[in-house]
Amino acid sequence: MEKTVKTVIIALGSNLGNRLNTINSAIHKIESEVGPIINIADCIETTPFEMESVENFLNSCIEIETKLTAWEVLKKLQKIEIHLGRPEKTKGKNESRTIDLDIIFYDSQVIETTELSIPHKEYHTRGFVLIPLLQIAPNFIDPSKYLTVKQLIN
Ligand code: AMP
Repeated sequence: MEKTVKTVIIALGSNLGNRLNTINSAIHKIESEVGPIINIADCIETTPFEMESVENFLNSCIEIETKLTAWEVLKKLQKIEIHLGRPEKTKGKNESRTIDLDIIFYDSQVIETTELSIPHKEYHTRGFVLIPLLQIAPNFIDPSKYLTVKQLIN
């Protein structure tokens, strides 16, 4: 059976090393391993949120298409994070990181498991996700809130 193509929004963040290079490398790897890129938001620089870290982040969001399941996308993103220098074990919430890749939306699916929450649990409280998201997907409907990104921000 032909697998259907899903639209996925991924948030990217980096606050260690050559942040722009790492974000660009992540985008290239996602394109080759997960699916074609439809849209890329401009990178913004943000101050660390709920972190002791002093290094500012670069953040962006991308919209891609994929035939992979949400869990397959998560596994691919975790492999890419490790490949780009994020330590496998020390995945503390409040640490600096070469790269952080989060699935914000996976088509119109709502997923609530211990491993995966989609829409991403905290995205709507984070300006560093909402600003790039608004740029590339203002009319994307959050399937759990029944609001577009634009409506969520207003
Ligand atoms: P982080 O430190 O932000 O990279 O969090 C990674 C952890 O969050 C992993 O153990 C994932 O299984 C879990 N997780 C839950 N929902 C998501 C999501 N929507 N995107 C990425 N990771 C998620």
